[in-house]
Amino acid sequence: MALYPKLIIDALQNVRYPGTGKSIVEMGMVSEDIRIVGNKVSFSVSFEKPNDPFVKSVVKAAETAILTYIGEDVEIKGNIEVITKQVVRPEPEKLLPQVKNIIAVSSGKGGVGKSTVSANLAVALAQLGYKVGLLDADIYGPSIPKMFNLEAARPVLENIDGRDLIIPEENYGVKVLSIGFFVDKDSALVWRGNMASNALKQLIADANWGELDYFLIDLPPGTSDIHLTMVQTLAVTGAVVVSTPQEVALADARKGINMFTGEKVNIPVLGLVENMAWFTPAELPENKYYIFGKEGCKRLAEEMNVPLLGQIPIVQSIREGGDDGKPVALNEDSITGRAFIDLAEKLIEQVNSRNKHLGATKRVQVK
Ligand code: ADP
Repeated sequence: MALYPKLIIDALQNVRYPGTGKSIVEMGMVSEDIRIVGNKVSFSVSFEKPNDPFVKSVVKAAETAILTYIGEDVEIKGNIEVITKQVVRPEPEKLLPQVKNIIAVSSGKGGVGKSTVSANLAVALAQLGYKVGLLDADIYGPSIPKMFNLEAARPVLENIDGRDLIIPEENYGVKVLSIGFFVDKDSALVWRGNMASNALKQLIADANWGELDYFLIDLPPGTSDIHLTMVQTLAVTGAVVVSTPQEVALADARKGINMFTGEKVNIPVLGLVENMAWFTPAELPENKYYIFGKEGCKRLAEEMNVPLLGQIPIVQSIREGGDDGKPVALNEDSITGRAFIDLAEKLIEQVNSRNKHLGATKRVQVK
């Protein structure tokens, strides 16, 4: 019988890795380059732990499977190489496959302008022609509906391909969903246990977001289970951390950056945004007053080796834009609007260079 790799793989499908009920093929342990010369078959099997107690029994079972299912005359004994390196398991399937880039916007402290930056960044990306979605995951103070003049909105369900999906609201070219659409804003919200995480998961998985270039998530301030849930549920591209230049805010921003880059969450920080970087009064446009300190985020960015994506001044129109539901980023000609467009462009640069880098690494692995 002529030997070919598919036959070998089929035989190895019968070898289960003890305790998992899965075959060593399914677990990605069998090397792709199965070599066949005449009757001699060789390949390698990788184990995650160098001292895996099942190495011998798995190799023996693999030899037996090949002899049983293919034939006694196959030369296999001693030809299975054991590799003990980390097996790259396929990631569990994450949600939103039609979304190209998922950006988590967060801050260490509340009140530093995280939602203002999220809203304006989303609008700026839409102004630049991208398809944008924004999920307000700030369960403690969902302010995105107000910032998008969507306070009265009550999203409806639509049956799409047999599933009832929430239709995101839309304004200024941005698809928006917020926990605030579904709860009475005056009643104190006490989310217990997993309630908040589950509600947010629903706004992601059971909503018709469609195709998006950028999906921004306005996370709650600080570090919480919500952050963990989001990165476990979604293939997050990276995080943007917002802070003011004030020392107390910077200390919390540092914690935030460490959380993202830490083992548990492990997503790249695309950059830091310095909000309320300085105050400029309308009547003295040349003057800059550094009320929260000067260039604190710039220093933190250098210290933590993350890019500084932009500096946004504290300006009355930004606050008014938020309160009136008309983000300043809508007006590209204003100084504030320009600041957010510049910020969006810097973010795109970071995302693109990261995606390019990922592509390059993938190619190297395939070789
Ligand atoms: P967070 O989401 O971090 O809690 P918000 O975005 O809700 O913060 O901002 C808190 C308040 O500060 C809001 O009233 C907002 O309008 C105002 N604000 C935020 N950034 C600026 C800015 N650059 N200039 C003026 N006001 C701002």
